Amino acid sequence: MLREETKLQPLFNFDELTPPPSMGNGLTGKDVISVSQFNKDKIDYVFARAREMREMVDRVGAVDLLKGFVLACLFYEPSTRTSSSFIAAMERLGGGIIPITQGVQFSSVSKGETLADTIRTLEQYADVIVMRHPELGAAQVAADYAGIPIINAGDGTGEHPTQALLDLFTIQEELGRIDGLKIAMVGDLRYGRTVHSLTRLLMQYDVSLRFVSPEILRLPLTLMNDVIDSGINVRETHDVADVIENADVLYVTRVQKERFTDLVQYEEVKDHYEITTEIMEKAKQKMIVMHPFPRVGEIHYNVDADPRAAYFRQTKNGMYIRMALLAAVLGRA
Ligand code: ASP
Repeated sequence: MLREETKLQPLFNFDELTPPPSMGNGLTGKDVISVSQFNKDKIDYVFARAREMREMVDRVGAVDLLKGFVLACLFYEPSTRTSSSFIAAMERLGGGIIPITQGVQFSSVSKGETLADTIRTLEQYADVIVMRHPELGAAQVAADYAGIPIINAGDGTGEHPTQALLDLFTIQEELGRIDGLKIAMVGDLRYGRTVHSLTRLLMQYDVSLRFVSPEILRLPLTLMNDVIDSGINVRETHDVADVIENADVLYVTRVQKERFTDLVQYEEVKDHYEITTEIMEKAKQKMIVMHPFPRVGEIHYNVDADPRAAYFRQTKNGMYIRMALLAAVLGRA
């Protein structure tokens, strides 16, 4: 019997999509070290590209946009979401990967190789390096040595710019806007780099910020002063009860155990905040709960069934944002 001719699915065609708001995105060949590099035009550009990536993944799963390019993933600190979403992003765009993620101890780093030498080695093979490092400022040091773009995937207590972009994207996609929102950040505001980067991005918008933390984990003073100077409506409190009724976004974070020199102090504050279903009863019907993850008890598991719990959708957005950034940095935008 003759087989019916199979109808081939058309390949995904980027030309069908609306052109991005600005063709000259200014990201090609550049490092991504800090959110201060992103003005609203660049943010809108990355978001538009991320939406295209989402549509592409939904329709065909993968394309060859970055075929022939190689990404080196160099992680000196643990990671699940950032490393795997960058790897998935590169895979879905047809590129290759050098994964030094869960095993920096198996690379020459464990033999005492300096960051400078590791970077100058990897750039012989790769076109872009994504790096996470425990020291504040390490991403800039790597960028100073590298002739290829460095993307900061977290430098100690400093910044985590790609996380902040995916966080902001999640707010926009979930609530349809950023301006006019009341955003409460809860937990370790002192050491949490995702809070630092997201706060800096939000300073460009007309938002109200509420910072909720124990005394010793308050937002660093320099950042707080910048927030105040930006003219944003801002308040600090120790109590989630002060913010839960009005918050449009509750951004919960983990207490960063690895940054404490005194573990007794960590024990004192580690269980300070727990978001429960009872607390969620007081929250607005239209709001979202976010978390950069990992969580270690800050949000109870039974909150997950609440449609306002946006953290796994937030996680997924990370891949689209990172696809958009890789394409932009590698000049395939
Ligand atoms: N995954 C985020 C980071 O690397 C948040 C966290 O670790 O708590 O900063």
